[in-house]
Amino acid sequence: MKLILLNHNEEYAAREMISAHIPKIKIELTETIPCHGDYLISEVHLKDDMYIYNASLALNDKRYTYSFETDSYSKTYIKKSVNEVMKEALDTVLPWGLITGIRPGKIVREMYESGSSISEIKKHFIDFYECCEKKTNLALQVALREQELIKTMPQNSVSLYIGIPFCPTRCLYCSFTSQSIKFSNTLTEPYMDALCKEIKYTADLLKNNGLSIDTVYIGGGTPTALSEKQLDRLLYETANNFDLSKIREYTLEAGRPDTINEEKLKIIRSYGISRISINPQTMNQKTLDIIGRRHTPEDIIRTYEMAVKCGFTHINTDLIAGLPDETEADFDYTLKEIRKLNPQSVTVHTMSIKRGSYLDEKYSMYTPSAANTVNNMLSAADNMMKLMNKSPYYMYRQKNMLGNLENVGYCDKGHECLYNIYIMEEVQSIYAIGAGASTKIIDGSKIDRIFNVKEVSEYINRIDEMIARKDVLKVR
Ligand code: SF4
Repeated sequence: MKLILLNHNEEYAAREMISAHIPKIKIELTETIPCHGDYLISEVHLKDDMYIYNASLALNDKRYTYSFETDSYSKTYIKKSVNEVMKEALDTVLPWGLITGIRPGKIVREMYESGSSISEIKKHFIDFYECCEKKTNLALQVALREQELIKTMPQNSVSLYIGIPFCPTRCLYCSFTSQSIKFSNTLTEPYMDALCKEIKYTADLLKNNGLSIDTVYIGGGTPTALSEKQLDRLLYETANNFDLSKIREYTLEAGRPDTINEEKLKIIRSYGISRISINPQTMNQKTLDIIGRRHTPEDIIRTYEMAVKCGFTHINTDLIAGLPDETEADFDYTLKEIRKLNPQSVTVHTMSIKRGSYLDEKYSMYTPSAANTVNNMLSAADNMMKLMNKSPYYMYRQKNMLGNLENVGYCDKGHECLYNIYIMEEVQSIYAIGAGASTKIIDGSKIDRIFNVKEVSEYINRIDEMIARKDVLKVR
């Protein structure tokens, strides 16, 4: 689609709104109005102290226009005019309205901190952002819960992230730093050596800077893709180098059932890890096959029960709404199966077409779920979580999510994942170790980032350089 902007430069706002309606659409900014093909013209002009916002859309040989005037200039109004023509052309309504590219929780928090009442915030969401009441209530509920938990964050504390970039196979939708463990066998040992070097350096850095560790998150990839010996080495080095005496939460992503066995679970438990994730994504075999997971729903149940037997009292399960070829009935089946397991927390994601994923490359081979279907799935999940006595405690949105919807973490009271909140709300520094890890230093409203290279062999070969990048964090 061609995009033409007249009298304004809010390209990003217009693009976001178009993509919210049509994920993965290619948009080309141009200056001339084409004679044929799809295009959108977004225009703002000032007349008698009033701003007039126009949008004109040509889509599939039909024309749609929308115009309104108001006394102020805002890029949200540009979004509004674009949204109106897209809505009319596609007959879709976005539940989050004009909220794109910003965390709804951030809007709530900023308004709350500047003295707005709950009803004023609600009104602003509904009237200004055209957000539906259900999503408005969700944003408020999550933001207020997050606020309570952020208040408990200890002074001078940081979180620690360690990345293990290996998985048994690559999932269709994955864009994380991860490669197949089977084809990277020769890399795992050198990777562990490099990782342990960075662990030691980072531990000294934290000690010298007088920082305490509040939460630890070992993710990836799939940390349990490592062998028992490598997993034990990772956890031993972490426990021996860092002072973990003050941590309030220790998570390890077991993630894939095809990497979990009793021995690994016992090793993880023996290092005091309190929270693990066992992520089904779906309980339907046909979908597991489509997304490239070489395990069965029975494997999920078996490993989950094994984890309970090994003494884990906080297990999280991740689900995805809108997986290729899944119907609402398929998703309902997954929810019912999850209810039987009754994990302490459930994170419900919306399918997102991430750049660099196989799904992105082969998008045309799959039928994406319609936005309203995915929204119905999210509503079904919300109802099921209520039945299971779980409340939403964190939420985030990403680019290219179907229907511009959301990912929500639900949990039993007292089982909120602090790390998830801190990383999303950017309130605590995160020292990150491993390939593709990014360290985030929060200093008031200032955020500095230090990136490690993503490619595993590059990380191994350039480990001294990765470590040297953290030198800027030394207190001088
Ligand atoms: S398990 Fe997670 S990290 Fe591994 S390939 Fe699948 S989505 Fe990516």
